[in-house]
Amino acid sequence: MLKRALLSVSDKTGIVDFARGLEKLDVQIISTGGTARILRDAGITVTDVSEVTGFPEMMGGRVKTLHPMIHGGILCVRDDHDHMGEAEKVNVQLIDMVAVNLYPFEVTVSKEGVLLEEAIENIDIGGPAMLRSAAKNYRSVTVICDPEDYGHVLKELRSSGVVSQKTREQLAVKAFRHTADYDATIDTYLSKELLGEEVLRMSFNEGVTLRYGENWHQDAKFYKEVGVSGPSLANARQLHGKELSYNNYIDADNALQTVKELGHGKAAVAIVKHNNPCGLATGNTLLQALQAAWDGDPISAFGSIICTNTVFDLKAAEFLNGKFVEIILAPGFEHDALEYLRNKSANLRLLELPSFNEEFAVDDTYKYIIGGMLKQARNIGIYDKWETVTKIPFPEELRSLSEFSLHACKCVKSNAVTLAYEYDEGCYMMLAMGAGQPNRVDSIRKLAATKARENLAVIYEREKVDMSFEDYCRQVLSKCVMASDAFFPFDDSIVHAAESGIMFILSPGGSIRDNEVIATADRLGVSMVFTGMRHFLH
Ligand code: 5GP
Repeated sequence: MLKRALLSVSDKTGIVDFARGLEKLDVQIISTGGTARILRDAGITVTDVSEVTGFPEMMGGRVKTLHPMIHGGILCVRDDHDHMGEAEKVNVQLIDMVAVNLYPFEVTVSKEGVLLEEAIENIDIGGPAMLRSAAKNYRSVTVICDPEDYGHVLKELRSSGVVSQKTREQLAVKAFRHTADYDATIDTYLSKELLGEEVLRMSFNEGVTLRYGENWHQDAKFYKEVGVSGPSLANARQLHGKELSYNNYIDADNALQTVKELGHGKAAVAIVKHNNPCGLATGNTLLQALQAAWDGDPISAFGSIICTNTVFDLKAAEFLNGKFVEIILAPGFEHDALEYLRNKSANLRLLELPSFNEEFAVDDTYKYIIGGMLKQARNIGIYDKWETVTKIPFPEELRSLSEFSLHACKCVKSNAVTLAYEYDEGCYMMLAMGAGQPNRVDSIRKLAATKARENLAVIYEREKVDMSFEDYCRQVLSKCVMASDAFFPFDDSIVHAAESGIMFILSPGGSIRDNEVIATADRLGVSMVFTGMRHFLH
């Protein structure tokens, strides 16, 4: 039988209804100053904590419930004869439920210009002590630290007269996690304020088990960061298909980050395979952008992950007929598109991310290495300066296409080069890219330039282009902007680019052989801009 409950809450949400529910079940309510006042105003009978302890609440609320009459009542082990005897001797009355939420320390310290004194006064002492006492004695006591739990606890009490063992266990763990997080927040704040030290601290939920990791023999889990908001896979709703795999998480996150900064009023599509965008395009419609992104590498797009900034419509869905895709991630799906895609495959994962167009809520990225964690600021921005370094001027009309190429380049694994092409007015595609090579020359010669011709061959056939294939390649490549994620250490990359017909190149610059590189560009009629911003991605 639940006889006595202590309610002491900072966040008063739902407390009146909860207390009223308890009162109806003949539970005696003990409460601290502010909470007691609100309950009394609502006509609920309350015993003051000071009446139980025989002491007034004092020192501005610093000492209210820190007393053996309270903690004895919570901690006493009911089936321990000695405990019960001692309680009886000093007239400690048993407390069977504790509902406490703590002074809002986190909210206080996240306010602009908060003073240390104010922060310190918001460190709750008696609250965590009660939560921990009650959680420790979960076999007999119910502990509630979150107003969200009032409802189902009341429901259990009404239906069976008790709170089940299972619920008490769950609530106890929740309470310990809550006080641990609370203390961690205090540690983070005071470490910075008093010691000038930054503490790395992240909290995650309990995690979902994935079928396997990168490979079948590797166990894997996904942990969602607690409280993460904005565009994130953690906030995506799965509308259809199998559960996400480990590789799906990585590739879909890459696709999201790749497409996020693109568009500016246009539809944008990224197609990702093995953690690299193999297709990327903007278009006047989603279908147009999707086709152009697909043209960036129709071979690799098999089994890919597609992410777009635009609500997925039926035309785009129909384009995927006969094409194998793992995931579509979009801000939403038109009803008919959703039906179509659901029928297309039982396995195709459809992820809806309504917060897609919000800003990313995280500023840093982390990477675990054996025995350590690396942290860095997200790679924001694409260039620091815009300096034409060659004799041949770089046409200003290519600025926007260049920005697209730089953006694509910063999303491709190093050494990265990207070839961007304006395939329709104001609509851009990554015609080809070179990724992940340990040297830049191979990224250009063996990958981007070769791949561009292969992709153009497909478009040439489909569009029945009315000129020779060589003329077509020359025409397209001469209008492309090639971006390189880092400087050219030698001029060989320029030679290979020019041999392939590429006339416009972007590089951060900064090599000791910059002069040699620029001289070769001048000699070969290539126009080059130095941007001052490197975009390595590992
Ligand atoms: P009330 O608004 O009812 O006056 O105060 C409720 C708050 O006081 C709760 O957040 C609870 O955790 C906190 N609290 C309860 N007992 C003590 C205590 O002895 N010391 C301190 N510092 N806080 C307490």
